[in-house]
Parts: sequence; C-alpha cells; structure tokens
Amino acid sequence: MATPQKLRCLVNKITDHGDHVYTVDLTPERPVPRFKPGQFLHLTLDDYDPSSFWPESRVFSIASSPAQRDDLKIAYSVRGRYTARMENELQEGRMVWVKLPYGDFVIRDANNVALLAGGTGITAFIAFIDGLTNEFHNNIFLAYGARKLGLLLYRDLIDAKAGIDNGFHAFYFVETEDKNKSGETKGQSPKFFTGCLSIGSIWNELENPQETTYYIAGPPAMIQALTGNLRKKDIAPEMIKVDAWE
Ligand SMILES: Cc1cc2nc3c(=O)[nH]c(=O)nc-3n(C[C@H](O)[C@H](O)[C@H](O)COP(=O)(O)OP(=O)(O)OC[C@H]3O[C@@H](n4cnc5c(N)ncnc54)[C@H](O)[C@@H]3O)c2cc1C
Repeated sequence: MATPQKLRCLVNKITDHGDHVYTVDLTPERPVPRFKPGQFLHLTLDDYDPSSFWPESRVFSIASSPAQRDDLKIAYSVRGRYTARMENELQEGRMVWVKLPYGDFVIRDANNVALLAGGTGITAFIAFIDGLTNEFHNNIFLAYGARKLGLLLYRDLIDAKAGIDNGFHAFYFVETEDKNKSGETKGQSPKFFTGCLSIGSIWNELENPQETTYYIAGPPAMIQALTGNLRKKDIAPEMIKVDAWE
C-alpha cells in the first residue's frame, strides 16, 4: 500500500443532488498518490499546518479513477455535525486538505462478486466499475439502493457498463416509486425494484450465491441488516466484506 500523503485541493465543482446529497470534485495541487479502487480519503475543513497535528476530519470513499492523478471525486450525504459543516462551508473555489490513501476494501477476482451499495456507499465501488475490463474473470452483481430515483448517483456509468459487459449485472432499488422517469427497460439489466435493498430480492438473480463474495458499503444500519440476512442464508463471515462506516 502507498504511504498516505497530505494534499491541498481546490474545490472545483459541487453538484447538489437534492436531499442533502452532494458530489464534490477536487483538484489537488500535485498528483494524487497511487491508490486502489475502494480506498478512501480523509477530508478536513480546517486549515492544516504541516508542522502541527492533522485537524478533525471525516473519511469518504474515492469515486474518481486511480488513473486520474489530477482529480479527486467524493460524494457525501449530510448525516451529523461534520457533514452539516461541509454542506455550509464547502464552496467552489475554496481550498481543503485531504490525506490518502487508506483502507483495504479492494475487490478481488477470486469468484463471483456481489456489490451491495446504500446511498453514497456507491462511491466505494465506482472506481472499480469505471476501471472494469474483460480481464475481470468473474461475474459482478451490483445492487444499489437510494431513497429516490434522483439520488441514484453515477447512473450513466453503471447503465453503460451493464449495457456492454455481459458479466456485469445491475439492480437498482428505489424506496419511492417514480417509474415514469426511470427509463427502465423490462427484462434487461439494470433491473429496478421498489423498496429497500434486500438480499431476498436479488437472491434468485445471483449465479451461485453460495460461492459469491459479498462487498457491502453504506450506512451502518444497512450494513448490519444485510450482513444479518447473508448469515441467515449460510454465507460464511469470510465471504462478507464490509466498508465499515461509523
Ligand atoms: C471507510 C468509510 C468510508 C466512508 N465513505 C463515505 C462516503 O463516501 N460518503 C459519505 O457520505 N459518508 C462516508 N462515510 C461516513 C462519513 O465519514 C461520516 O462518518 C458520516 O457521514 C457521519 O456524518 P458526520 O461525520 O457528519 O457525523 P458526526 O456526528 O459529525 O460524527 C459521526 C461519527 O464520527 C466520529 N467522530 C466524532 N468526532 C470525531 C473527530 N473529532 N474525529 C474523527 N471522527 C470523529 C464519531 O464516531 C461519530 O459518531 C464513510 C465512513 C467510513 C468509515
């Protein structure tokens, strides 16, 4: 793993997706260190003096591709005190400090994989999906849930990959039904479900579910619920990998 580095970044673009969910594009002052899809960064709103301690920060999965050394992308939803501060204080044109890379939530090509994403947890998988090539030998099943259709981030990328790559299957879960705007095509990937992401809904869609590795990223309650459901299906703990949000 690369040694983490601290970088000052320009907040280049903020996209407001509604419902207090944002994508933030950062331009670092120098090329980002090498990282792997699934790793995360620390972001602080406070000024950092390199001769002093690292200030309070929060962690966010890196959604940009490791190949883009001059760009960093994260997505966040306002949950508590610090992300509320981010909503108030982050503005295009200001500077922030980040440090990266961290984490070992890295998807391995050992058998079929199911990627289970809740809300902004999708960012943990985006760099992996973006970099997918035919060199990945196993099937990938992405199940991605959001409160409403407009909060399904990175749909262009996911739809495009599901359209061209037979080994990549996507399932969207939206809590509020809004089918008119979904662009859903019956019988094709991605498939839409109404309601919360659940193991029961995708179980029959998976190929060989007992031989699949499950990667889960999202809010703690979702991780807990899905892990419990997988254990009830006799999935061994070592086949369940979690990007543990606090
Ligand atoms: C590996 C990982 C990846 C994540 N990726 C994303 C992502 O891509 N998008 C996203 O929206 N969220 C992500 N999160 C969650 C995010 O980091 C925040 O923890 C979450 O949004 C909670 O909101 P908050 O920080 O505003 O809440 P707060 O109420 O400010 O804090 C929540 C928790 O942070 C911890 N905390 C409190 N004070 C401090 C402090 N001084 N320094 C450090 N920690 C403290 C405590 O455990 C506290 O319960 C990720 C978390 C992890 C662990």
